[in-house]
Amino acid sequence: VKRAKASGHAESYLPQDLAIARAQFSMETALRRAIENRELRLAYQPICDLATGRIVSFEALARWTDPQGNVHCPTDFIPVAEESGLIVPLGRWAIEEAAQTLALWDSRHGGPCGVKVAVNLSAIQLQRDAIAPVLGAALDSTGLTGDRFTLELTESAIVSDPDRIAGTMHALKALGTTLAMDDFGTGYSNLAYLQKLPIDILKIDRSFVTGMLADRDKVSIVRAILSLAQALGMKTTAEGIETNELAQTLAALGCTYGQGYFYAKPLEADAAFAMIGTGVSA
Ligand code: C2E
Ligand code: MG
Ligand code: MG
Ligand code: MG
Repeated sequence: VKRAKASGHAESYLPQDLAIARAQFSMETALRRAIENRELRLAYQPICDLATGRIVSFEALARWTDPQGNVHCPTDFIPVAEESGLIVPLGRWAIEEAAQTLALWDSRHGGPCGVKVAVNLSAIQLQRDAIAPVLGAALDSTGLTGDRFTLELTESAIVSDPDRIAGTMHALKALGTTLAMDDFGTGYSNLAYLQKLPIDILKIDRSFVTGMLADRDKVSIVRAILSLAQALGMKTTAEGIETNELAQTLAALGCTYGQGYFYAKPLEADAAFAMIGTGVSA
């Protein structure tokens, strides 16, 4: 976090830079310990079929409460994990933990419980780790099949190293997984990748969904993404659905799935399990 003053010595630091560097380093140290000491958990947020209201999957979202009781947000600690390389062990842990939770739900259900689990993959993690073998090992150890998993990638992963990512995506498809493009519409990318890569679902970013009922431009963007997905034979998930009215509107526009506080906030595994099969009326 070094920044040269406009006029002055190149190696001078602004006091706030030093503070940021210290905070970053201490979060990195704490995060390393958190991964070793298993302070991280996954929360599970339902994703519903907009036409029927049934829960089809749960997105697994990392949560971290440190021993002092401080809750850290993923939007703060995931970037630190990416910069420090800790995203590799964190990402492996997320895949293994999600698999174990899903296997537990199946055993409590007395057979496959009927939902998938969606795990986020960061661009840096995809560059540095071999994800398909990691998932393969988790499938072997739990007895789950790959079709119970969705992997969420962002456009930045594709921009960074298209050939490597294509190989990883095909390997993940060969395991039977579903692939979703997360935060679609927010990243800079050449849309040509959409027809070249095996993407099943476009997740419409929350920024287009929030407030769309009062904003014609947002509705136009959402419509455009829905028709693009339809033309390419992909399904769609709208993020950030906070009201019934939004759920109804997106269902009427032909969006396949929905996720957001209207259905549920991210939940502890037990609370998520209790929701399976209940559905939320559309
Ligand atoms: P994301 O993958 O786009 O996840 C959706 C985020 O939107 C989650 O934030 C979720 O809690 C939030 N959200 C869902 N519905 C609503 C809603 O109706 N209203 C509002 N205001 N927010 C809603 P969260 O859990 O804070 O995670 C933030 C981001 O951190 C995620 O965005 C994802 O990019 C990243 N992340 C979280 N867990 C992991 C992980 O295990 N691995 C990686 N690589 N990234 C993760
Ligand atoms: Mg996601
Ligand atoms: Mg998302
Ligand atoms: Mg998002």
